[in-house]
Amino acid sequence: MAIDLTEPAMKGSCQCGQVKYVINGKPLGLGFCYCSECQKMSTGIGSYGMVVPRAAFNKLCGSLKTWERLADSGNRNVCHFCPDCGVRIYHENPEVDYIRLKAGTLDNARDLIPHAIAYLKRKPKWVPMAEGILGFDGMPDIEKVIKSLNQRSEV
Ligand SMILES: [Zn+2]
Ligand SMILES: [Zn+2]
Repeated sequence: MAIDLTEPAMKGSCQCGQVKYVINGKPLGLGFCYCSECQKMSTGIGSYGMVVPRAAFNKLCGSLKTWERLADSGNRNVCHFCPDCGVRIYHENPEVDYIRLKAGTLDNARDLIPHAIAYLKRKPKWVPMAEGILGFDGMPDIEKVIKSLNQRSEV
């Protein structure tokens, strides 16, 4: 079963615990990405991006540093991370009203099931294809995917 996106408060932290946060409000969707940037960032197979309205993300304690790069789309990608342990907490394009939470930092990350998977062309060969989850060869238009999720849940 997918995570209950109506859960009123999801808590998370960086690895060392300097940064703690709570998500108050409903996330708009959850993606997983196998691109090489996510693999380097996570030192693993890829990373989660939970699309969360900017106002729903509330830092409880700690300070974040930023590093910025241009995404393949040409959009700014500002990466917020703990300066002590280096763990990414969220990514954002400052021009839109949502952030992309690095959802592996949630305390209940074990329960996460993504709605969509990006960069299947970079999926490690030993990782099986997920069934019943929207898949894309590259990076889809996040806003279009969120719209299609909303249409499905209204039916
Ligand atoms: Zn930390
Ligand atoms: Zn990626």
